[in-house]
Amino acid sequence: QRDRLRGFLSSRSRVRRGASSARLVVLAGPTAVGKGTVAGYIREHYPQVLLSVSATTRAPRPGEIEGVSYFFVDDAEFDRMVEAGELLEWAVVHNAYRYGTPRGPVEAALARGDSVLLEIDIQGARAVRRSMPQARLVFLLPPTWDELVRRLIGRGTESPAEQARRLETAKLELAAQEEFDYRVVNHDVAEAAREVVDLMNLRREPQLP
Ligand code: 5GP
Repeated sequence: QRDRLRGFLSSRSRVRRGASSARLVVLAGPTAVGKGTVAGYIREHYPQVLLSVSATTRAPRPGEIEGVSYFFVDDAEFDRMVEAGELLEWAVVHNAYRYGTPRGPVEAALARGDSVLLEIDIQGARAVRRSMPQARLVFLLPPTWDELVRRLIGRGTESPAEQARRLETAKLELAAQEEFDYRVVNHDVAEAAREVVDLMNLRREPQLP
C-alpha cells in the first residue's frame, strides 16, 4: 500500500511539475499598494518561486542590487532589447522610465516546468494577457483607499507633486481590477504573499519520502 501511495504521489507531482502545469503568475496593482514588498517577501521566504528580474532605465536606489532588484540599463540598451524582441512586455511607468520583462528566463523556466512570478504594472499585465493568455493575473488591493494614501505619503520617496500624480494614476488603476483573475487584499504582507504563492500551486507540492 505504501508503494501505491508513493506511486500516486509521484505521478501527481509529475503532473504538477510538468511543463503544462507550470504557471505564469502576474502580480499587479495600484501604486503604493505594496507589490514590491510582497514580491520581496516571496523572494525571501519562498525560494522555489522564480521571480522575474525586470530591466529598467531608472537609476538604482540605495540598497538595490544589479541583477537582483533589476537589470539597470541605459536607453540605448533598452532600445536594443526591444528591437531584438528580448522583452516579453515593456511599458513606460509613471510617465518616466521604461521597465520590461526579459523573455528568455521566463520561457526557460516555463519550459522546465517551473512557475514564474512577474511583479509588473497594469499595462504590463494587460500585455502579458494578450501574448500569454494562460497567465494568471492577480490584482493586489489596499485594505482601503485611505490606507493607500497613507502608504504613499508615508514612504516619503516621492515629492508632493509626484504623490498627487501617482494618486490620480492609482484611481484609474483601481478601476482595472475587474480585468484580473484574482484579487488579494494586502492587509498583511506575509498573508498576501502566502495567498499569491498558493495561487501558483506550489505550496501544496507533495513532499516525497
Ligand atoms: P519602482 O521604480 O518603484 O521599482 O517600480 C515602479 C513600477 O514599475 C511598479 O509599479 C512596478 O510594478 C513596475 N514594473 C517593474 N518592473 C516592470 C516590468 O518589467 N514591466 C512593467 N510593465 N512594469 C514593471
